[in-house]
This record gives sequence, structure tokens and C-alpha cells, in this order.
Amino acid sequence: MKIKNKKKVAIITGGSRGIGFECAKKLASEGYNVAICSRSQGELKYASNFLKKKYNISCFYMTMDASKIENVKQFVNQVIKKYKYVNVLINNCGIQLNKKFEKLSFDELQSVIQINLFSYIYFSKLVGSQMIKQKQGKIINISSVLSKFPLIGRLPYSIAKSGIDALTRSIALEWSKYNIICNSINPGHISTNLIKKDINRGLISTKELKQRSITNSIGTLEDVSNFVLFLVKYGSNFQTGQSYYVDGGFSIKK
Ligand code: NDP
Repeated sequence: MKIKNKKKVAIITGGSRGIGFECAKKLASEGYNVAICSRSQGELKYASNFLKKKYNISCFYMTMDASKIENVKQFVNQVIKKYKYVNVLINNCGIQLNKKFEKLSFDELQSVIQINLFSYIYFSKLVGSQMIKQKQGKIINISSVLSKFPLIGRLPYSIAKSGIDALTRSIALEWSKYNIICNSINPGHISTNLIKKDINRGLISTKELKQRSITNSIGTLEDVSNFVLFLVKYGSNFQTGQSYYVDGGFSIKK
């Protein structure tokens, strides 16, 4: 199933800010039409207007909770109805809760895993059905260095992220025959709201975050989005099922 002379299409979950928005910009700059979602209407509207104006592309957006299967179905159905084809899925939306295991409620445990892992499973399955029909697709899962190297206070986050790495390998294995490649990118600390929240609450300092890398630095949005672009643009069927660390050496220091 090939649609000729059409712009390529990428879905980016959590595309309203941070790493997701940066990836949306990167793909839009390559001429992709993009579809983004998150819970905050205001940020989505801003991101969509920015992308359309700056890159002269089409941007579909929907306010939704990616941890809810009915929301995900509605979003994916509307994207497919509008664009008829999905070349790339970037699973990116996520939250982090910095709290020790013994202090976490069962609701908190469940909600972190639901948002960080189940949303990736839902999107992969629903968008994957379309990619199977197309016999083409690229799925990139934004995981974390914490999938393998835990930090105190991030238990459900680490569980979800290691689940994402397993999801990546399983999708690669099952869907290679449909010409679908799937990889994850595992960032170290990147300068976004996710870590700024912890800094502002006094849970960690910028100095400590930097010291976890061997470069004594915090990563930039472009450190991640450039790697995403590399996989989207140059990733071949031979590069699949992998977890690529973009972490300033955090993982080798552990
Ligand atoms: P941000 O908080 O800046 O962005 C998170 C995005 O996810 C926002 O668009 C947010 O929008 C969206 N989101 C969160 N929960 C939901 C939900 N239930 N439904 C729909 N959208 C949701 O963080 P980052 O850009 O840093 O995070 C992006 C990804 O990168 C995450 O998966 C994170 O785990 C991963 N990562 C980040 C690192 C870092 O140091 N920053 C390090 C390693 C991995 P809204 O809140 O409006 O819903």
C-alpha cells in the first residue's frame, strides 16, 4: 500500500512540549505532517500553530489522556481518517514521580505504569495495525537510561521503561516481516519540565544531575531529537529491536 506524492506522516505522543515537541519540530522541518496529543489544550494549540506556521505542514492535534484506551482509539482513528497513512510513530508521553517505594500508594504505582507503559502498548498496537496494512513503518519508543540503571525513588518509572525496552524487542521480532522497524532511545537527564519539577521542589540539584554523566552536563532536546531523526531518516531493517543510550555516559558510570 503506497500513497505517492504525499507528505509523510508522523504521530508523536506528548508532542506538546519537551522532547516530543522537539521531535515534532525536527520531523516537520523534514516535511512531515504531524499528529500530536497531550492533556493540555493550551500547549497543544501553541505547538500546533507553531509547527504549521514555521514549517508549512499540516498538524492534527487532540487533547487526550494517552493512558486511556478509548482516547487512544479515537485519536488514532482520526489520524488515519485524515492522513490515510502513518510512516512514523514516536511513543514519547510520560510522567515521573519521585517517591520511595514504601511511600507510594497503589494508585500512584498504577498510574505511572499506566501512562508510561500502557500508552506505548496501546499506540503501538493500534498504529501498528495500520503499518501492517501498509507493510511499512517505523516505531521509536522514548525509554530512559533508568530502564536498566535504577535510581532511588523511581521504581514504577523504571519498571515501565524496562517494559518499553521489552516491548521494543518484541515488536521488532514480530513485525519485521511487515517491514516495520522498532527501536528505543534511552535518554539520560535532559533539560525539560520533567527534571525541572524535581529541581524546583528541591529533590535534586542541577549539579547532582550533571554529575551522573561523564560529560558533567545535562542533555539538550536536540541530543534526543537528532537521534530520532537519524533513525527515522537512515534507520534500516538491519537496525531494529535496539535500545540506544543517549545519556552523556550515565550508563557506563553506573
Ligand atoms: P515533559 O514533561 O516536558 O513532556 C511530557 C509530555 O507527555 C507532555 O507533552 C505531556 O503533556 C505528555 N503527557 C504526560 N502524561 C500524558 C498523558 N497521560 N496523556 C497524554 N500526554 C501526556 O517531559 P519530557 O519531554 O522530558 O519527557 C518525554 C519523554 O522522555 C518521557 O517518556 C520521559 O520519560 C522521557 N525521558 C525524559 C528524560 C528527561 O530527563 N527529561 C530522561 C529520560 C527519558 P500533558 O502533561 O499536558 O499531558
